[in-house]
Amino acid sequence: MRLISFSDRTGTRIGLLAGDEIVDLRAAAPQLPTEMCAFLAAGEPARAVARAALAAGGPRLPRADVHLESPLLRPPKILAVGLNYRDHVEETGRELPAFPVIFNKQSTSAHPPYDPFHMPRASHSVDYEGELACVVGRRCRHVPAARATEVIAGYSICNDVSVRDWQLRTPTLTMGKSFDTHCPLGPAIVTADELGDPHDLELRTWVNGELRQHSSTRHLIFDCFHLIEHLSTAFTLEPGDVISTGTPGGVGIARNPPLLLSVGDVVKITIDGIGSIENGVIEEPESTVRS
Ligand code: ZN
Repeated sequence: MRLISFSDRTGTRIGLLAGDEIVDLRAAAPQLPTEMCAFLAAGEPARAVARAALAAGGPRLPRADVHLESPLLRPPKILAVGLNYRDHVEETGRELPAFPVIFNKQSTSAHPPYDPFHMPRASHSVDYEGELACVVGRRCRHVPAARATEVIAGYSICNDVSVRDWQLRTPTLTMGKSFDTHCPLGPAIVTADELGDPHDLELRTWVNGELRQHSSTRHLIFDCFHLIEHLSTAFTLEPGDVISTGTPGGVGIARNPPLLLSVGDVVKITIDGIGSIENGVIEEPESTVRS
């Protein structure tokens, strides 16, 4: 299944993406939660109801008639991994990490898959990072890698948008990685059973149609399962937590000369089996307090 969050005139809720159509779960299965974290927390019984709604072929909405939101409007946590592809480590001139390099993006940075993100007032040093995101499906702690699939709901695409000057001017990455709108996610959470092996997927990033990143998730240094083990050793993972697994080589800052994003650029990231997200870059508007 391809789990989405979407909005139309009647509100924001979850559904299933089915080609060019959407199964509105509020209509097709009114007993289900209408918010993604609650749906994921409801576990396999809820997923079985959703699968039945998909198979039933009931009323559907044209995808073009709704607005796709971030599949997780406000993930409980957005955990991200630096330096997790060898070619990206090499382009930054750093050593291969002995342990996963973990940082947070604030949950308020989550952003829809096709909406433009902001060129901030505070900086024009903005870069893209195409990444596979793993979404937690169960509250858990101390999960060995061999059992990680039991707690993973599915996979999505993340653009770990990075404000490079803010990221690199202090030892912690938090500020530069957490500007509002700087975590486009989606277009769906593809459930683990539908996606198959998450560690053999082609990942591509284009800027204005020019291919900038092209790798495969088989080149991850710490794969999704080991990241789950590592993170859950220290803290509880919860339904809806996002783990963005790191970006391969080809980011703008590492090019010679550096080629950062400009207002008007369009960044598209594709991962086989998941789909694409595509976001333009706009000036940060005057009023940016988000609801
Ligand atoms: Zn990243």
